[in-house]
Amino acid sequence: MTAPAPLVDRFARAITYLRLSVTDRCDLRCTYCMPERMTFLPRADVLSLEELYKVSRAFIDRGVTKLRLTGGEPLVRRDMVDLVRALGRHLGGGGLQELTLTTNGTRLAEFADDLVAAGVRRINVSLDTLDRSRFAALARRDSLPQVLEGLAAARAAGLKVKLNAVALKGVNQDELPDLIAWAHGQGHDVTLIEVMPLGDVEEDRLDHYLPLDAVRRDLEQRWTLVPNAVSTGGPARYVDIAETGGRLGFITPLTGNFCATCNRVRVTATGQLYMCLGGEGRVDLRAALRSDDPDAALTDAFARAMGEKQERHAFAIDRAGAAPAVSRHMSTTGG
Ligand code: SAM
Ligand code: SF4
Repeated sequence: MTAPAPLVDRFARAITYLRLSVTDRCDLRCTYCMPERMTFLPRADVLSLEELYKVSRAFIDRGVTKLRLTGGEPLVRRDMVDLVRALGRHLGGGGLQELTLTTNGTRLAEFADDLVAAGVRRINVSLDTLDRSRFAALARRDSLPQVLEGLAAARAAGLKVKLNAVALKGVNQDELPDLIAWAHGQGHDVTLIEVMPLGDVEEDRLDHYLPLDAVRRDLEQRWTLVPNAVSTGGPARYVDIAETGGRLGFITPLTGNFCATCNRVRVTATGQLYMCLGGEGRVDLRAALRSDDPDAALTDAFARAMGEKQERHAFAIDRAGAAPAVSRHMSTTGG
């Protein structure tokens, strides 16, 4: 049998990076991400562990070398560690160069050692504030102590941690330098993210939208920011901060354009392949997986996806009260 063709879209972008959401459920309710009373997907619609593995396998066979597990909160899925173990076997010559995850950190204390044992070396942990009452208001759960415990466990287990913080006007803007200095002191790189118009929440995100070029100008008053050419093929631009010795990334989906070098696609927990975070175009991999001839159906689905991946996203957050650019929540497609 010939090997399946690598994934290359019609703009000649090779797809080597998959973000796979393993659940849309979460133990937090970050206000910019989901409403308190979030409607979660019916469990029966969510891919089984075996299906998640098969989908990942199909991508690895077609040239994906980096896989990020996300959610919702990936570590609330009970069989998550089994999936990480199964995928970890593809590291080191089995097609995968990196297996990683994005987590809110609440359950890291429990799982950090298992992740390392399965071959995970680096993770992203989302943390927007170090102030317990702010955290409780922002995440609608008083879970900062668990997250800090999780971070300590990750460090002890030898995991390299990058912190992701959503920059929010009037919420954590005043605290960003302290958050960055603290993280760098702990040996964690930091990436700041602009809030994106994904899914309805109970507030108008425009109230808190903070363009990162303003944040960057503020930081330049305080520190020496040295541009770093490192590229992930993603939307982040990096600087090294001379005074802290740490790295800082800026993800600017709204003010920057990074689409030309896009190397990634996303799959939801129900097996919907989204070719662009900022678009509605999708291909149903679950239907392919559950068909009579999954191999042929998957090949066909991948060909359709590569033919349809859009050239660039079309986010806009500049109209007060405007409907979200994309109706699904970040927790559906994963970060
Ligand atoms: N629960 C995990 C976590 O929080 O890291 C993984 C999923 S979460 C959806 C992934 C990332 O998306 C987090 O860093 C979160 O802050 C970010 N995020 C969620 N909603 C967002 C939005 N509307 N705009 C920008 N970032 C968002
Ligand atoms: Fe949960 Fe992550 Fe969304 Fe926060 S950002 S509600 S932790 S999925």
